[in-house]
Amino acid sequence: MWYGRTYHKISRWFASSQTCSACGCVNKKVKLLSIREWVCDYCGTIHQRDENAAKNILQQGLKELGLFA
Ligand SMILES: [Zn+2]
Repeated sequence: MWYGRTYHKISRWFASSQTCSACGCVNKKVKLLSIREWVCDYCGTIHQRDENAAKNILQQGLKELGLFA
């Protein structure tokens, strides 16, 4: 991603903005780009869409590279 040669593109189908960065569940209701904030049905965490997506993309990238602890 940002370590030069270790650049890695995450799975295309990964729904970063719909996945709760706290518990990992996917909220299908969050598909409209107009939704900026949503609450996870499972763990109740309030997410800012873009911030949540950024966290998920980071976590997913590390996971796919086998670096996720
Ligand atoms: Zn959650």
